[in-house]
Amino acid sequence: SQLPVRYIKGVGPRREKLFNNLGVWAADDLLRYFPFRYQDKRNFVKVEGLKEGVFAAVEGIVCKVRYKQIPYFLTSRRVRHIFEIVLGDDTGKIKCVWFNQKYLTGIIKEGDKLIVYGKPSLYKGVFQIISPEFTTSKDKDDINVGRIVGTYRLPKELRQRFMRRIISGILDKYARDYQDPIPFHIRKKRNLLNIRESFSEIHFPSSWDKAAQARERFIFEELFLSQVLVYLRKARHTYQEGVPLKINEGWIEKIKKGLEFELTPFQDKAVHDIFRDMSKPYPMHRLLQGDVGCGKTVVAAFAAAFCLSCGWQVAFMVPTEVLAFQHTRTLSRFFKGLGFEEDGIKALTSSVSQKEKENIYKYLGNGKLKLVIGTHSLLQEKVKFKNLGLVIIDEQHKFGVAQRALLPKKSVLSPHCLVMSATPIPRSLALSLYGDLDLSVIKEMPAGRVSPDTIWVQEDKRAWVYDFIEGELRKKRQAYIVYPLIEEGEEEEIRSLKQMQRELAKRFSSFSLGVFHGKMKNEEKMATIEKFRNQKIKLLISTNVIEVGVNIENATVMVVENPERFGLAQLHQLRGRIQRSHHKPFFILISNDSISSLARQRLETIKEERDGFKIAEEDLKIRGPGDFFGNIQHGLPDLSVANPVKDLDVLKQARFFAYNTVKYDPYLKKTSNRYLREYLEIRFKGHFSFREHIDTGSKKSL
Ligand code: ADP
Ligand code: MG
Repeated sequence: SQLPVRYIKGVGPRREKLFNNLGVWAADDLLRYFPFRYQDKRNFVKVEGLKEGVFAAVEGIVCKVRYKQIPYFLTSRRVRHIFEIVLGDDTGKIKCVWFNQKYLTGIIKEGDKLIVYGKPSLYKGVFQIISPEFTTSKDKDDINVGRIVGTYRLPKELRQRFMRRIISGILDKYARDYQDPIPFHIRKKRNLLNIRESFSEIHFPSSWDKAAQARERFIFEELFLSQVLVYLRKARHTYQEGVPLKINEGWIEKIKKGLEFELTPFQDKAVHDIFRDMSKPYPMHRLLQGDVGCGKTVVAAFAAAFCLSCGWQVAFMVPTEVLAFQHTRTLSRFFKGLGFEEDGIKALTSSVSQKEKENIYKYLGNGKLKLVIGTHSLLQEKVKFKNLGLVIIDEQHKFGVAQRALLPKKSVLSPHCLVMSATPIPRSLALSLYGDLDLSVIKEMPAGRVSPDTIWVQEDKRAWVYDFIEGELRKKRQAYIVYPLIEEGEEEEIRSLKQMQRELAKRFSSFSLGVFHGKMKNEEKMATIEKFRNQKIKLLISTNVIEVGVNIENATVMVVENPERFGLAQLHQLRGRIQRSHHKPFFILISNDSISSLARQRLETIKEERDGFKIAEEDLKIRGPGDFFGNIQHGLPDLSVANPVKDLDVLKQARFFAYNTVKYDPYLKKTSNRYLREYLEIRFKGHFSFREHIDTGSKKSL
């Protein structure tokens, strides 16, 4: 039910706000706000059977009640009211204490029969429970005690009992008519509980087994819906009206001749995949995947050149400003000699002056500006194109699905889309996450690259490391030193950039030093990178902001301090910064000797393994699926119980069923898919339009 929570009995405007903060807007969202854990309150324990620290429910008679108010001047800890009772059964007595809940004096009285639930601790030889949950009569309250009870993630203003009561009410009122979005034949094949039973069992399980089954069903449902969306998107791609471009083979050869190097076979293949896609009447949706440093940018440049040569505009989106300017430079160089006008290419980022911005908006609008390379700034409403033919998104895992979808919408016809990523996730997973994209992979580094030596030392080798850096600097190479923190934090053993800056300035006094971190102004950052690129700065002290995409070929040494503080994918990205030429790179890790064995295992992996995908898989094994994604966007919308890594097998199954569903019914018009369609329309408004498209004759099979 889409009934706003405010209309639910017991929810006023104040609680509505609290719910909204949790992403709960309607009755339906409440039903889907699942408990994050359960407590077994079925088994009552006698006082003599209590164990310290083990949650238990105790039923007894209130033998004593005491209320104390503490004067302000006596309490430092904001405890103003203490309410204590002694509860006894035929085997002994316990004490229960509540703080700041004066109202309890009116509720719990001597002689009452009471059930309490909580964690007992021993105090002066007597068990006591602090702030136990309680109920005064077992019969009146069968949702809080005497059963398996769910606990929800709630702000402290919303009480668990309140939540249970509300949910129980909605279950009674609305869940009965709830139509199941998972088609019946799929539920049957997968042996899944139906939606009504699942709601009831996930909130108020009748047994552990049922609770697990309900959860299983929702995991499948979330993944299934996400995969249906993926396939619908994919099917829809081929119905969009695109921008077919004409290939001119001779002209490709001409660009290649102008290049400083030869394309590797994989790059060449990718370029041809892209050109073929872009000559079709429906838009390209292609993912270009390849490890850090394999040379994705040049492939993108070919795509851009192709589009420009046919008279269409190109938008190139990147996650950082440094990258925007770096690509602007690279592409300008690339386009020199191809007869493009100098001012046909511009960078658009937040630090571009207002006047320049206005100019860019204007020239994009009238079509004078052909190629714009920018950050999120490109998504602003003011950015409008005259004839956008191609959208390129670099480091796409740094953007959310919604963000990625915005740029192509800035055009009347659907532009071609090329997204690029080093995709630091295992292959099996990538397939499901990016299932709506065609894939080109660059599997080899350009010829002549020297693979890096990864050296892992402890603190005692610091002097040696500094000498080594100096040696390389004298050979005219450049170096990075990367810290996990800018400023000193609370943990003493973690080194920070600011703290080391002086020491390094002294040690490397005959070389110019630069500093680069996220808190610097954008102009400063840009100027610093520029100086590093021009070798005015030899040694760059940085945080991991340097991680994404920066390409400075002469920098071949990188030292990472407290490497245990970085994720494996991050370390791999960092190492990718120094493998960009024919000079030998050195990647040096200085760790504490006190690091955990888990951290040791991860550093060992980075030392031994060079393949980004293998590292991702290793990372997954070591870290476990729980926090694998960290700040990577996994791109599946609305997951609350499913974890695409942990539930990979379910994901594969869901993918299979989703594929068949969409394949045989691309508009979900069949009766069996009716509720699926209705649900998607409500829940994922904006993700997908179910309007039938006019068949442009460009249909491609799934
Ligand atoms: P990434 O794939 O990580 O984005 P880049 O596109 O930044 O990598 O390329 C890294 C470096 O490799 C650049 O300096 C680029 O000029 C160079 N490069 C790309 N392709 C080749 C090639 N075929 N031969 C030699 N060098 C190349
Ligand atoms: Mg790149």
